[in-house]
Amino acid sequence: KVTQAQILQWLQVFADKIEQNKEYLTELDAAIGDADHGINMQRGWKKISSQLPTLVDKDIGSILKTVSMTLISSVGGASGPLYGTWFLRASAAVAGKQELTESDILELLQAGLAGVLQRGKAELGDKTMVDVLSPAVVKFGEVVGEGNNICQALQQAVTVAEHGMKETIPMLARKGRASYLGERSRGHQDPGATSAYFMLQSLLVVVE
Ligand code: ADP
Ligand code: MG
Ligand code: MG
Repeated sequence: KVTQAQILQWLQVFADKIEQNKEYLTELDAAIGDADHGINMQRGWKKISSQLPTLVDKDIGSILKTVSMTLISSVGGASGPLYGTWFLRASAAVAGKQELTESDILELLQAGLAGVLQRGKAELGDKTMVDVLSPAVVKFGEVVGEGNNICQALQQAVTVAEHGMKETIPMLARKGRASYLGERSRGHQDPGATSAYFMLQSLLVVVE
């Protein structure tokens, strides 16, 4: 089980990770975008970090919904609405819950991904956050389906997420600003895939 307290910890760990990596994410975006992914994410996650103490009595669905609203209202760019949608759909999948089972986490991850796909229309291989989120969800479902626990499933999901992130390097960007570069988008790791990897890695940190 993943408790409400662990969900709050996850959000704090991810906010800290964004803070620590804001220059790195911005450098990645400088190569194939407009050099603001780290700044965009840091703006939203700093605000979320300051809101977390007001959420200690809320259920997991309400917590994730608040995160979604803050991301949508303060992050901007392509990533703000996309992460906002991920958290909005994730929150709906676990509405009212105080703790999450294996299947709750799977539904949360599936719902978040479905929201990003619907909103952004990216496909696997388009060099976006989808190249991290999609294989991670599939792996999580497989490992849980074999009877393993959340921690084991997340470990394997994070491993494939890391591969997915690195696999964006040679890809041609077909969505977002990076797509304007055409062939010159190859050879650079996608910034949104990188922040999505950090998001899943942060969840693993708190369940381990
Ligand atoms: P912007 O490109 O508007 O400046 P950011 O720099 O914050 O926004 O975010 C860029 C990231 O958003 C990309 O690296 C990519 O992972 C993700 N992204 C962009 N467009 C899409 C899309 N249509 N679907 C999924 N992810 C996308
Ligand atoms: Mg950008
Ligand atoms: Mg921008």
